[in-house]
Amino acid sequence: MSKKKLRQRSCIACRKLENWTDLIRTVLVNNEVKVDLNHRMPGRGAWLHRNCFQVALERKAFNRSFKIEGDIKFNEIEDYLKNLSDY
Ligand SMILES: [Zn+2]
Repeated sequence: MSKKKLRQRSCIACRKLENWTDLIRTVLVNNEVKVDLNHRMPGRGAWLHRNCFQVALERKAFNRSFKIEGDIKFNEIEDYLKNLSDY
């Protein structure tokens, strides 16, 4: 019998491997980082711990992960994280 394994992803900021259920999936749409709550959005995903967002910004991890240079908008993910921490 095979055990069901959780797939692991590494956080784009701290690079730790983690079960994907413990990370946030984000995708880039029109240069804006979108939070993909249902893991259904197409495109290349970047995964991170919610607490690693600041680190990701400092390290430009999103640029690296999405392979783009230049400005990325973070409004949506910032709102999302802010709402989480308000509770
Ligand atoms: Zn992390």
